[in-house]
Amino acid sequence: MTPKEVVQFAKENNVKMVDYKFLDFVGIWQHFSTPMSEFDEDTFEEGIGFDGSSIRGWQPIHNSDMLLIPVPETAKIDPFIEAPTLSLICNIIDPITREGYTRDPRFIASKAEAYLKSTGIGDTAYFGPEPEFFIFDDVRFESTCNQSFYAVDSMEGRWNTGRDEYPNLGYKPRHKEGYFPCAPTDSMVDLRNEMVEVLQSVGMRIEASHHEVASGGQCEIDMRFDSLMNMADTLQWFKYIIKNVAVRNGKTVTFMPKPIYNDNGSGMHCHQSIWKDGVNQFAGDGYGGLSKMAMYYIGGIMKHAKALCAFTNPSTNSYKRLVPGFEAPVNLAYSNRNRSASLRIPVTNAPAAKRVEYRTPDPSCNGYLAFAALLMAGLDGIENKIDPGQPLDKDIYGLSPEELKDIPCVASSLEEALDALKEDHEFLLKGDVFTQDVIDTWIEYKTENEVNPVRMRPVPEEFNLYY
Ligand code: GLN
Ligand code: MG
Ligand code: MG
Ligand code: MG
Repeated sequence: MTPKEVVQFAKENNVKMVDYKFLDFVGIWQHFSTPMSEFDEDTFEEGIGFDGSSIRGWQPIHNSDMLLIPVPETAKIDPFIEAPTLSLICNIIDPITREGYTRDPRFIASKAEAYLKSTGIGDTAYFGPEPEFFIFDDVRFESTCNQSFYAVDSMEGRWNTGRDEYPNLGYKPRHKEGYFPCAPTDSMVDLRNEMVEVLQSVGMRIEASHHEVASGGQCEIDMRFDSLMNMADTLQWFKYIIKNVAVRNGKTVTFMPKPIYNDNGSGMHCHQSIWKDGVNQFAGDGYGGLSKMAMYYIGGIMKHAKALCAFTNPSTNSYKRLVPGFEAPVNLAYSNRNRSASLRIPVTNAPAAKRVEYRTPDPSCNGYLAFAALLMAGLDGIENKIDPGQPLDKDIYGLSPEELKDIPCVASSLEEALDALKEDHEFLLKGDVFTQDVIDTWIEYKTENEVNPVRMRPVPEEFNLYY
């Protein structure tokens, strides 16, 4: 849509309010609204001022004026706000220079797409993320229940399993058997269907919906792949819709990677391919039907995987998922069909569907930053012809320590990932996609606001061990 068409679209939909959405540095949507009477075509040019210092990880207070520039192509009607509301995703620019703000994740994603084109390797990078999530009962208003959760658990000595071992009141999926018995064992069918309908209502193409392996309401809804920026925008809508449909049904959703000890966590596998002039550059006649270029892309991801973890697995909780035995990859290896490898080549004969699935990422990531970083790592592999070595077509979880000793691993903590990023980020600076300031700020923000507060806090298991 052009600005003119957006105004027309708003009028046709009897819009009363306009809602401007943008990301903070970490990747959580922020918003504010104006009445429709304050909105017209010029808004797309003039933008809307806001205080950048109040947003996590952004401008210092003495330099806090920033401008939101809504992107007309992102116009949608917000499905949750009662008054008919036009929703627009915004870019952030500096009001004086009118240049993109270097810490705006959307700006970083747009520079990654531009960098791909500048290399001549391709014109479009496609991403197909598969976010998994848990649906829990909404206990926000029963604070006593919430607070006593850990106490009750530890009093009754449940820490050895850590899973919810209350009596099975009927049809509860057995441990690791959530994938995928029919209702009534799958009790989330209607809720997921409602989610799918709302996702479709804002123009999203949904391919599948199912319960996942974990026993307590873990689900997955799959979106059609799209180009990097479009997919990152879509992922924001996805999380927004999934959470809001849950809440209006008395449930909550979390995209945190490992909410339950000793059960499967939530990943966000990312399918990737690079296209040029409408032709998939990853299709070829090598291993798994892939091209040489795809192999080098894999090589780039494997080489930079630890540093990439700082963006693809950016929470302290991410590393509670990346442990053996729960279908989450720990080792850096590629293979077709093999789900214990971090890189899987899905089996398909269609050249258009040839792609690489990177299984390490989780849905706590900021999609714009994670996709941009993955693309930059893959391109680095292609530009430097990084050989990914031999495939590993074995169950990696079943290998002996001797067999495992030469297979590299993903990072094992957020701290390790940030340390790796500190050493290894040249590949991200190409084309000014990530700036040195973005790298430094990310490491500092994550260390101070997440690594340290978690590291310094006693956790329930420590009471079990040491009290
Ligand atoms: N939940 C698993 C993970 O953490 C994936 C399970 C699956 O999709 N097969 O990645
Ligand atoms: Mg899936
Ligand atoms: Mg899955
Ligand atoms: Mg998958």
